Amino acid sequence: MLAGVSQAETPRCWCYAARAVERVLVLNASYEPLNVCSLRRAHVLVWKQRAEIIESHERPLRSACAQFRRPHVIRLVTYVRVPRAVTRRISRRVLFARDGWACAYCGTGSNRLTLDHIVPRSRGGTSVWENVVASCAPCNHRKGDRLLEETSMSLRTVPRPPTPVLFIRLTTETIPDVWRQYLPGIGAAAAAAA
Ligand SMILES: [Zn+2]
Repeated sequence: MLAGVSQAETPRCWCYAARAVERVLVLNASYEPLNVCSLRRAHVLVWKQRAEIIESHERPLRSACAQFRRPHVIRLVTYVRVPRAVTRRISRRVLFARDGWACAYCGTGSNRLTLDHIVPRSRGGTSVWENVVASCAPCNHRKGDRLLEETSMSLRTVPRPPTPVLFIRLTTETIPDVWRQYLPGIGAAAAAAA
């Protein structure tokens, strides 16, 4: 609970200036990055004592009767288990970003990318993050309906579900500097690490 907050007050009356653009980084209790939320949502989480402020802006959050720290990074008080592989639906944009906008087989970034099932669907392969990669059109065509071991092709990396950091990077226009210490691999290495 922040100093100055009484139980009688509700966060509904706060004026959230620039709320459409002001975003807050949410960390799990373990300090792993989880997602990004609005300033209003972050303030409510802190107000309900479900999160604590780790980094705040110098400029406070004001209401008519009080002022509060303006959260920039918050941390959940209770650890949240995230079933990433289940909750993160596969999209081409995220898949291509995960694979560094390059073909998972030959590494080219210049050809048009397609989604390829490593074990083809016709051979029982499913649409899970571990079974899909970005593939240039020629590699996808060359592989066809064959299993990888039936070809001379190989994967450059082992495909894994994308990390929350990748989603944060893709959905945030500009990553604030103060967030970076909490976002491992947010630089150029993020796509490869994902
Ligand atoms: Zn290729």
